[in-house]
Amino acid sequence: MIIVKFGGSVITDKKVYKKIRTRVLKRLIYELTDENIILVHGAGSFGHILSSDKKLNSGLNDSNMIDFSTVARDVQKLNTIIVSMLIERKLPAISMPIHSFHMVGENFPYTKFHEYLIRGFVPVTYGDVVLERKKGMVICSGDQIIFNLAKYLKPERVIFVTDVDGIYDKNPKIHKDAVLMKIVHANDSITFDNDVKDVTGGMELKFKVMGLLASSGIDVMIVNGLVKDRLKLALQNKDVIGTRVVP
Ligand code: ADP
Repeated sequence: MIIVKFGGSVITDKKVYKKIRTRVLKRLIYELTDENIILVHGAGSFGHILSSDKKLNSGLNDSNMIDFSTVARDVQKLNTIIVSMLIERKLPAISMPIHSFHMVGENFPYTKFHEYLIRGFVPVTYGDVVLERKKGMVICSGDQIIFNLAKYLKPERVIFVTDVDGIYDKNPKIHKDAVLMKIVHANDSITFDNDVKDVTGGMELKFKVMGLLASSGIDVMIVNGLVKDRLKLALQNKDVIGTRVVP
């Protein structure tokens, strides 16, 4: 089984509220040649902009419940669009919104994913708002969900699709002289600086998750989804521009 992550940065325009990159998204869905997958997608501008403006990360209270509901609705809307495109492509996609069945701090309900997988479905989950005991709520990124799924379901590989060629020694969108690294070790020191609103930790957290996955024996790589065929080649385990994270 392979977990594929469509980053919010590649399937949406992270700077414009609820703007999908429809052409990119459709192409990425057509590049999904392997059917034994779990698809995880980011929230992009369907989640980060409102969550950040309404400071949802500080927790749930009487005055922001409507914001919690709104973000949950917005990201579910993005998810519905993606699931519809997968069904159009004749993939038996099934939506798994974690706000509806997970509470942070409790065991991750991975068995439900397993039950769908063994029947040949393609479970699709995404970065979402989730209940939590201490603060009331937290924002759970797609990358964090992948960490939980991988812990229990032990995929052979995890492929992250984002809007840059891979991991550079520093943010390539800010530094013109940034150098792409083909292989990165989990404990290498890299400079991460976000250029857009990301309430869940951006590339830095992604790199941490990738390092933990690699250390548990999973083949982990990140490729640029804005460039045609990179995802396809990565899925086929062929030589492709990107970054592998190794222990
Ligand atoms: P996604 O939404 O695709 O999951 P993020 O937006 O969280 O991904 O992370 C991708 C972004 O991370 C890139 O667009 C880039 O601007 C930023 N970034 C920061 N530091 C780095 C780095 N060292 N190498 C690559 N990208 C970086």
